[in-house]
Amino acid sequence: MLKLVVCIKQVPQVSELPWDPETWHLQRELAEGMMNPACRFALEAALKIRDKIGARITAVTMGPPSAEEALREAVALGADKGILLTDRKMAGADTYTTSLTLSKVIQKIIPDFDLILCGASTIDSDTAQVGPQLAEELDIPGVAYVHELTIAGNKARIRRVADGFSETIEMELPGLVTINTTSEAPRYMSFRGFQQAFGESDIITHDAASLGLHQEWIGARGSATKIRNVYSPIAERGNLVLTGTNKKILDQLFTLFDDRIGGVVGKDLKTEKN
Ligand SMILES: Cc1cc2nc3c(=O)[nH]c(=O)nc-3n(C[C@H](O)[C@H](O)[C@H](O)COP(=O)(O)OP(=O)(O)OC[C@H]3O[C@@H](n4cnc5c(N)ncnc54)[C@H](O)[C@@H]3O)c2cc1C
Repeated sequence: MLKLVVCIKQVPQVSELPWDPETWHLQRELAEGMMNPACRFALEAALKIRDKIGARITAVTMGPPSAEEALREAVALGADKGILLTDRKMAGADTYTTSLTLSKVIQKIIPDFDLILCGASTIDSDTAQVGPQLAEELDIPGVAYVHELTIAGNKARIRRVADGFSETIEMELPGLVTINTTSEAPRYMSFRGFQQAFGESDIITHDAASLGLHQEWIGARGSATKIRNVYSPIAERGNLVLTGTNKKILDQLFTLFDDRIGGVVGKDLKTEKN
């Protein structure tokens, strides 16, 4: 039976969330969470593979205890099992320590996985780094921005769409893919799935100790990315629309910005113009 692992991130349902002024970490506990949209598409891709050729699907998430809700949603949609990685020591993780922590639980719980499916990116920090870094950590091939995916034997046939062009790739399993939100629309939750998710559902929890992860390797402590300051940019100036003939517009540009344009082209436009 094919073993599929789907990485799911719980993201805040709101775009404006307070930052903890001490740690500059998002205060996720202050907002309702939801499953990151691209993770829904990754789960859907896994469910489609199971519909076609059979598979066992394990959903994995790293987050605060409330992230269990996203796992229950995954089980309600059809995942067979959920793994919650939660520990205060894992808080404030950058993408590298997130990938490292995910790799450790996958190596420990599902070492014989065939395919890992991630969303292409998240709607809160949107780095699109976790999938590729997880493939690197596990030393497996990875393909990002996947639009179509089929499995035959130990190979995945993939059509990816990125930067406006499409590519067809064959990847040997085990491997990792990140799924675009342009791929097939996710299915709706069934009532039976909902009952199962909030009834007897197979969700296990792991912390740093159970994974043998030292505090120095994970969370904010293990993260090379340090958030120095967070602020919402304030738009200070409005738009400036220059009108007239091309020559008139150029003249206005040179008059208004000759020092900056001069700096870019390395010329003193004042003397050039005369
Ligand atoms: C506003 C903001 C800016 C940030 N900027 C940076 C930054 O520049 N560099 C940096 O290293 N970190 C940054 N972080 C931290 C980053 O959010 C976390 O490391 C996060 O866990 C992973 O990054 P991502 O959400 O960008 O993931 P992405 O790489 O965009 O996520 C892609 C996929 O990876 C999987 N995935 C991601 N996170 C998890 C998880 N916790 N559990 C399970 N699967 C997961 C999901 O399948 C998801 O669809 C930032 C956080 C915020 C809130």
